[in-house]
Amino acid sequence: IVSRESREGNTVVKVRGIPIGGEAIQVIAGPCSVETPEQMDAAAEAVRAAGCRLMRGGAFKPRTSPYAFQGLGISGLAYLQNAARPRQLPIVTELMDVRMLEVFLEYDVDVIQIGARNMQNFDLLKEVGKVNKPVILKRGLSATLSEWLMAAEYIAAGGNHNIIFCERGIRTFETAYRNVLDITAIPALKRETHLPVIVDPSHAGGKAWMVPSLALAAVAAGADGLLVEMHPKPCEAWCDADQALTPQELSALMSSLRGVAAAV
Ligand code: PEP
Ligand code: MN
Repeated sequence: IVSRESREGNTVVKVRGIPIGGEAIQVIAGPCSVETPEQMDAAAEAVRAAGCRLMRGGAFKPRTSPYAFQGLGISGLAYLQNAARPRQLPIVTELMDVRMLEVFLEYDVDVIQIGARNMQNFDLLKEVGKVNKPVILKRGLSATLSEWLMAAEYIAAGGNHNIIFCERGIRTFETAYRNVLDITAIPALKRETHLPVIVDPSHAGGKAWMVPSLALAAVAAGADGLLVEMHPKPCEAWCDADQALTPQELSALMSSLRGVAAAV
């Protein structure tokens, strides 16, 4: 279903009327984690002011250490929705556990994110395949393109064809940065699938100063959009502080994107 053999042209996934995979590059921005209502309000205002049309924020966080902040859980979904909804920003947030799917639907999450660590959580993929919500499927830490395509096929097989691939960097021998952004994957994947492909430059580089270069490279290579971490006060972020853009940096990135892409 996800392969180009199954249909002509490109699929445009619509999120509350916003097209992903069409002419315009869509930028989804927001903090790594939902922290407080005040932080979310400031973040949503910055997302809107920069001209991004969708907002991200994690309420359930897949942390390496069980002692690290695990996300606010359900109250995080409420803070995210309360900040984004008045500004007409559809929300993107990560689902880690099938048992939370009902709650995601109750809180009217617009895009369900499947994180890198769950790319091959087949039971989770089957469940999101049964709902009528767009899904962002992040690439696993060391997943090949064919494994990634097959993971998307699990979702599509259930009837949900609204899938967006997200390249977020892969693990290699290099330790100088968090992950290696696989730019090669963008044209390679787009040759195989009619579905949109976006890029997360934040988790790829792991440093805020790298994000603009990686974002521009991704768009130049054909990415349909970006997923970018931004925090009103990066140095106070509870999670992934090093890679968060400031609101000003996000606005500057949006201006430079307008220079390389037809429409942002
Ligand atoms: C995230 O986007 O917050 C995240 C945890 O990303 P990844 O699954 O790519 O590590
Ligand atoms: Mn993060």
